Amino acid sequence: MSSQVFFGRLIHSKSLEEIEIHKQAALGIDTNGIIAFLDPDVKNAEEACKKHSGFADAKCTTLEPLQFLFPGLIDSHLHAPQWPNLAIGMEGNLREWVETYTDPIEASYKDTDKARRVYDEMVQKELEMGSTTVAYNSSIQVEATNVLADTCLKYGQRAVIGKLCILTGSTHDNWDESPEQSLEDAQKCIDHIRKIDPEESLIMPCVKPRGGPYAPPKVMAGLGAISHEQKTRVQAHMCETTEDITRTLKLHTGFEHYTDMYKSYDMLHEGSILAHCIHLSDHDIEMLRDTKAGVAHNANSNTCLRDGECRVRQLLKAGVKVGLGTDCSAGYSTFMLDSIRQASNVSRHLAMHNDDDEWMLSFPELVYLATLGSASVLTINDKVGNFEVGKCFDALIVDTGLRDCINIAGWEDDDLALLKKWVFMGDDRSIQKVFVNGKLVTSKV
Ligand SMILES: [Zn+2]
Repeated sequence: MSSQVFFGRLIHSKSLEEIEIHKQAALGIDTNGIIAFLDPDVKNAEEACKKHSGFADAKCTTLEPLQFLFPGLIDSHLHAPQWPNLAIGMEGNLREWVETYTDPIEASYKDTDKARRVYDEMVQKELEMGSTTVAYNSSIQVEATNVLADTCLKYGQRAVIGKLCILTGSTHDNWDESPEQSLEDAQKCIDHIRKIDPEESLIMPCVKPRGGPYAPPKVMAGLGAISHEQKTRVQAHMCETTEDITRTLKLHTGFEHYTDMYKSYDMLHEGSILAHCIHLSDHDIEMLRDTKAGVAHNANSNTCLRDGECRVRQLLKAGVKVGLGTDCSAGYSTFMLDSIRQASNVSRHLAMHNDDDEWMLSFPELVYLATLGSASVLTINDKVGNFEVGKCFDALIVDTGLRDCINIAGWEDDDLALLKKWVFMGDDRSIQKVFVNGKLVTSKV
């Protein structure tokens, strides 16, 4: 890969409070896909090439006036096998939806060819929509899970992937044969991922119990040991509904709080990605903060299944890591900008219920959650999430000047307005090019 220089408008999140906008700046990417410089003091790409050593022969891209460079979007929770079910099944509650739609489709991936067809389409589409990183939940099958990892590697998408482990509480034959088999299969998927991408340049393995009601103590303990000994991330659901909590504490006796259960099995640590976290006790919130486990907030899914409203403001105030997820297919869209919009709306409903605008998430907070926030939940914030020097170049070229649904009339010179227009009105048409690790992974031009 040759070195590259991008010149033009550059927008990224610096913190929960700050969106940094450079009307004109140069971003230099070295031959390894790493950001070497961010220089706002040059007038064009050529000047940047001359000024920075090693960039004399860089490939230069100058953005058009209504384009900007933005960090790749990071989806902290998506169920890959449920991709064909998007927009289906909003009638039931969580349990009815799982039993009617989710169990049958996840079980159907014993047909590995189906995994190849679905994942091939899904990963390409996800990249086109700007999701440069996704924390994927897979199904119970080893082969289908490995196909998912192979497909992400093939198309150049960054991903967290693990085999789903289910022993109890499921329907439609959607469960593992035995605790021993379940753990053995989880290990096979980790081994496969470590073999195809030993440096974790893109694919990161995880252990993945579906949640408290589905993985009995033996499996939880086994997965916790794997995660601890082999330093893998954990993906799991937590406190999605009150029924979820009741079922969990019934299967795992002796615990008062959901977090105590996960913690006792070594499943609650910095690499834990916990979806939903709606019905948390004060103790749960303290545990999340103390263990540095992260929360994947899935506003769309939580609304569709009427699970409840995740109290993001309370989590942020407590110092808990929060990112955004699409939760396909309980959420009907895998477009991360939709996740931002829905997170904004849920926070506004909380403000209305509590008669307190403090619950509202600000625009800088929403942008942070979908990029740096998700990155910190996945513990890759030292690698991606914004355009800091030393990070990997995972980025989008966004074009707000196309004939799509963005109406920018009169706001052409207002950089923040262009960003807001894109975040709230844009669709995948406005994402012109997508880069991961400095490599162009999809382009519409
Ligand atoms: Zn989920």
